[in-house]
Amino acid sequence: MPIFCYKCPDCEWTLEDSRPRADRNLMPMCQACGAHCERDMNAEHGCSRMASSGEVRSVNAGVGIDQIQEANKHYADLDVHFCPKTGDMVARNRGQYLKALARRGLFNRDEIRSPKHFS
Ligand SMILES: [Zn+2]
Repeated sequence: MPIFCYKCPDCEWTLEDSRPRADRNLMPMCQACGAHCERDMNAEHGCSRMASSGEVRSVNAGVGIDQIQEANKHYADLDVHFCPKTGDMVARNRGQYLKALARRGLFNRDEIRSPKHFS
């Protein structure tokens, strides 16, 4: 799915959201102040390159900054790395991302909906 970027006009809160193209103009609410966000075309320019390359970035599957080196070694055979600034997991494509998730014992909500995986 393509990634769209949104920005709060009041407090500069930002969101990068992966969603169907048809939903791109459904503006999210700012989670900091509750205002309606606007598309952030400048940020999107950077994001869309990422989306078209098929790269998948996950905050939830990320690691702590102090664990990045170890995590990179752990996933060396997969096309996955961890952002040196944020610790987010960055996978070359969705297939690599799912493999990496499976190894961590996490599950993608799209694939597995059983509630026991969320405890
Ligand atoms: Zn705001």
